[in-house]
Amino acid sequence: MKDCIFCRIVNGQLPAEVVYEDDAVMAFKDIKPAAPVHILIISKKHISTLADAREEDKELLGHILLVVNKLAEQFGLEKGFRLINNCGADGGQVVFHLHFHLLGGRKLNPSLGV
Ligand code: AMP
Ligand code: ZN
Repeated sequence: MKDCIFCRIVNGQLPAEVVYEDDAVMAFKDIKPAAPVHILIISKKHISTLADAREEDKELLGHILLVVNKLAEQFGLEKGFRLINNCGADGGQVVFHLHFHLLGGRKLNPSLGV
C-alpha cells in the first residue's frame, strides 16, 4: 500500500535490519528498541490492524505465531519473552500495518504498563 512504511520495507524501498523472511512474513529489528531484543514481525500482505484480519488470514496469523517461536529460539529467549500487538488508535498503534512486537533479553516489568 502506498505511503505505508512497512509496505515500503517489504518492497525494499526502505532499509531495515531484516532477521527473518519468507513468502508471507517479514521480521526486522525495531528502530527504537525497548528491550535488548525488540523485533517486529509483520505480514507481507497489507492488513491495517489485527481487527481487520479476516477468516482468509487465519493461516497467516497462526504462521506468524510460529515464526515468533522460531525467532525467540534464534535470539536465545529461552527464559521467556513478550509478544505485543497494539491494535488501533486506542491500542496505541502508530504504524497501521499489522505487526507484532517480540520483546525479550531481560526480565520485563510484570505490569502491563497500561
Ligand atoms: P506500534 O505503536 O505498535 O504501531 O509500533 C510501531 C513500531 O514501529 C515502533 O516501535 C517503532 O519504533 C517502529 N518503527 C517505526 N518505523 C520503523 C522502521 N523504519 N524500522 C523499524 N522499526 C520502525
Ligand atoms: Zn502496509
